[in-house]
Amino acid sequence: MAIVTPVDTPPGARRRLALANPATLEPIGEIEVRTAEDVRAAVETARKAQLDWSALSFDDRARVMRRVLQILLERQDEFIDVVLAETGKTRGEALAMEIFAVCDSLNYYAKNASKILKTRKLKLHGMMRLLKQVRIAYRPLGVVGVIAPWNGPLVLAMNPTIQALMAGNAVILKPSEVTPLSALMVAELFEQAGLPDGLFQVLTGDGETGAALTRAGVDKISFTGSVETGRKVAVACAEQLIPCSLELGGKDAMIVCADSDLDNAAGGAVAGSFMNTGQYCCGTERIYVDASIAEAFTDKVVDRVSKLRQGAEGEFDIGAIFWPEQLAVIEDHMADARAKGAKVLCGGRRNPELEGLFYEPTVITDVDHDMKIMREETFGPILAIMPVRDEEHAIQLANDSKYGLGGNVWTRDKQHGIEIAQRMETGSVCVNDMTMTYGVQEAPFGGHKNSGVGQVNGETGLRGYCHAEPIIVDRFGGKQTAKMYPASRKDDDGMQKFMRLLWGSSLGRRLG
Ligand code: NDP
Repeated sequence: MAIVTPVDTPPGARRRLALANPATLEPIGEIEVRTAEDVRAAVETARKAQLDWSALSFDDRARVMRRVLQILLERQDEFIDVVLAETGKTRGEALAMEIFAVCDSLNYYAKNASKILKTRKLKLHGMMRLLKQVRIAYRPLGVVGVIAPWNGPLVLAMNPTIQALMAGNAVILKPSEVTPLSALMVAELFEQAGLPDGLFQVLTGDGETGAALTRAGVDKISFTGSVETGRKVAVACAEQLIPCSLELGGKDAMIVCADSDLDNAAGGAVAGSFMNTGQYCCGTERIYVDASIAEAFTDKVVDRVSKLRQGAEGEFDIGAIFWPEQLAVIEDHMADARAKGAKVLCGGRRNPELEGLFYEPTVITDVDHDMKIMREETFGPILAIMPVRDEEHAIQLANDSKYGLGGNVWTRDKQHGIEIAQRMETGSVCVNDMTMTYGVQEAPFGGHKNSGVGQVNGETGLRGYCHAEPIIVDRFGGKQTAKMYPASRKDDDGMQKFMRLLWGSSLGRRLG
């Protein structure tokens, strides 16, 4: 069964894709695959709309975002229904991970963009400050292409969009072919809130549409997705000399220290590994636990996991796999782990009770770094536990990965947890929490190693949708510069004396 199937179309017509609900396998709609020509036309429209939008004040832009927030609050059940239909995640997850996160993002950037992006004065060093003033102006880039994955169809489409719009850009969103319906609702939401026509457009389609967007003359690509596609996007952007941010896959490690609160750590492991059915970029995929507490920790984890309720509509803890391609990866990693000696403590198979794409919440031990399950991104409901000699061993194994997106450390000693966090080669780390950095608006979010380039969110992320333009003003109306020619030996001698005074004498050093 496929969740996305090509539909027969007459020759010359745009291709169409039919979608099904991964939990019930029922059809939920069709989309059109937008062509390279459609993409170019959208960029042209967006460029015109952006001129007026960038001339508005932050307050005017914020007013639109606040209207979006109010409409989303009123219509949240409709949005949840669409997210549930195309992902098969649980209602609680749709609410917390999608709706709540988007509302928080709308509120935060509406409130803070003006503070973060207002033109600011730089304090200059040494003699320079007597001669020049510098201001940094944050100017919008123009048209931003946002390319989003399927695992957070609302939040991963809207969060970069909100930031790019608040910075004064137009946005063209290409959602995943697996979850385009949420994105179409987002377009409706912005329209209802009064966002000017053409400023935000959704182009449905598949990889071809995404590739066309990267080469359609946009001014930045904000990409979230796999490492493999991220590389292609990076090449396209490099060839056109446009910036991109790449938020890519991960293989997050959790370190459980000997002094950790075992109940909290076991709960954190379960939340970290099973949130969004494990299809979460910063989901916990590898757990390194001090050997002295490994057995007690594992027992507590298995006890919790065996009580998880799986299903889609109703009160469930864990939902479906969003599409068959991901299920195939999970089954391949589990088969490889089993063949190499891993022990399955619970789960380890498709859920025989449910018709849709459900994989049982699984706990495995006796794993090692020869197994795909400890090296490649699994993106499924698998909790893999590996006992370690001590913390040094844990840090060494946590860093033995081509990925570096998130991670977490569990210990009763907060300061020690921070010290371990600083030694983990990864984009962000939580101490006594599952990795939730993406949900903290102020924290810049991005990966190390293969997990990405650049950061989104907070000051850094918002400024990434702008060009920071230094404006240098001479305090004396240009007198010095006007006297530059004719050059003379006397002036050169004067400059050399000045340099010796500035950096070669104790007086100069004191003056800074
Ligand atoms: P993909 O890389 O397969 O797809 C991401 C997006 O890129 C989709 O919209 C896809 O379209 C589009 N696309 C496909 N081919 C191209 C191309 N050649 N040029 C431009 N765009 C293209 O990722 P998934 O959708 O499978 O998402 C899962 C991945 O995303 C996981 O690795 C996960 O870890 C990562 N992720 C990272 C996050 C982070 O913040 N670091 C957050 C969430 C997920 P289509 O789907 O229609 O083919």
